[in-house]
Amino acid sequence: TSMLGMVGGGQLGRMFVHEAQALGFKVMVLEPEAGSPAAHAADGHIQAAYDDASGLQQLAAACTSFTTEFENVPAASLAKLAETGFVAPSAACVSIAQDRIEEKAFFTRCAPQTDILPAPHAILRTADDLEKVSADLFPGILKTARMGYDGKGQVRVKSMEELRTAFDNLKGVVCVLEKMLPLAYEISVLVARGADGQAVVYPIAENVHRDGILFTTTVPSPHVSEQAALKTQNAALKLIADIDYVGVLCIEFFVLEDGSVVVNEMAPRPHNSGHYTIDACVTSQFAQQVRAMARLPLGDVRQHSPCVMLNILGDIWFDDVEQNTERQPAWDKVLALPSAHLHLYGKSEARRARKMGHITFIAPTLEQAQDEMRQACAILGIEV
Ligand code: ATP
Ligand code: MG
Ligand code: MG
Repeated sequence: TSMLGMVGGGQLGRMFVHEAQALGFKVMVLEPEAGSPAAHAADGHIQAAYDDASGLQQLAAACTSFTTEFENVPAASLAKLAETGFVAPSAACVSIAQDRIEEKAFFTRCAPQTDILPAPHAILRTADDLEKVSADLFPGILKTARMGYDGKGQVRVKSMEELRTAFDNLKGVVCVLEKMLPLAYEISVLVARGADGQAVVYPIAENVHRDGILFTTTVPSPHVSEQAALKTQNAALKLIADIDYVGVLCIEFFVLEDGSVVVNEMAPRPHNSGHYTIDACVTSQFAQQVRAMARLPLGDVRQHSPCVMLNILGDIWFDDVEQNTERQPAWDKVLALPSAHLHLYGKSEARRARKMGHITFIAPTLEQAQDEMRQACAILGIEV
C-alpha cells in the first residue's frame, strides 16, 4: 500500500508526514495522545499506546512499512510490526540507541574502524559498583542509562560523595558515570542508509546547547577542520553499515580543546540538529527517511545555502513577570527577515523548555544567516 506506518506523534512525526505526503504517500500514526503534532497532519490516527496489541494490529493491517520518530518506542513493538512488514530502523538498531551502555559498547567495538572512542565512563548498576569507580572520572556527569533526553536525568558530580548522593537519589536506576570533558565545540553527523546498503552523509552540523537542550545548529560548522569533518563522516558511515541500519541516523560528537574527537550518542531517527536540511538541502532528513523505508533511492544530500537553525522553546510565550501565556511571539516581525523560514509544530499549549518550533535562516552567506538569527532573537526576547 502507499500508507506508511509511524509509531509516535511528535514534531518529528509531523515533519515526516509532510514530506511523505509530498512524495505521494499517506501516513498512519500510532499515538496515545489526542491532537498530537503528527496525528493532526496525518491521514489516519490510531489512538493507542505504543505497545497496545490492538493498536499495533490496526497499524499492521493498514501499512506494509513502518518507522518511528522517537527514541523510546518499545523495541518489542517494532519487532511485532516486523512480523508483517518492513521496519526501518530495525528493533535491534533502535535498542542499541535506547541504552547508553549498549551504545557505548557499540562505539567501543567499532573504534578499531572509526578511530573514535566514547568518553571514559563507568557503568553503575548497584551501590557496589560505586566502589570501583576510578578517581579520574571526576568531575563527571551521571546519566541514566535509559530514557534520558534534553539533558534530563543528568547530574553533574564533582566527587565520590556527590556521586553517592546522586546515585542513591535515583533509587536503583542503572546509570553511566561519564568523565566531564573539556569541549571546544559539539557537532553531529546525519547519515542515511537504504535497504540496498547505499549510504549518504550530510555536512557536519555544529550544535550549541543551552541547559541541555539544543539551542542552535550552524551549517557549515564554523569550527570544524577538514580533517575532523572527514573523520567523523567516515565514522558515521562505518557505524551505520556495521549494524545494517536502514533509515536516518544522527550521531553526536564532541571535539575537545586538544582537537581530539569523542563520540557521545546517537539518535535512531531524524534529529533536531538535522531540521536545517528541510530548507537548506536538496533532500531533507525526513524525505530521506521516507525514501529509505519505502525502498526508494536515497536523495542528494547537497546543501545549497549556508544556514543557522534556531530552536523555539515555549519560554517565549511566557511573560517573565506575569508568568502567564498571554504573550504571542511577533512572528510577523520575524517573517520580515528575508532569510527566515518559520516552522511551528502545532502544539496546543506552550510550556517552558518545550520545543514549539524552529526557524531556519538561509542566506547567501553564513554571516547574513547568523546576523538575521540574532535579529530574530532580539524580536522574540531570546538572549544570545
Ligand atoms: P539529547 O537531547 O541530545 O538526546 P541527552 O539528554 O541524551 O540529550 P547528552 O547528549 O548525553 O544528553 O548530553 C547533553 C549535553 O551535555 C551534551 O550535548 C553536552 O553539551 C553536555 N555533555 C554531555 N556529556 C558530556 C561530557 N562527558 N563532557 C562534557 N559535556 C557533556
Ligand atoms: Mg540523547
Ligand atoms: Mg545529545
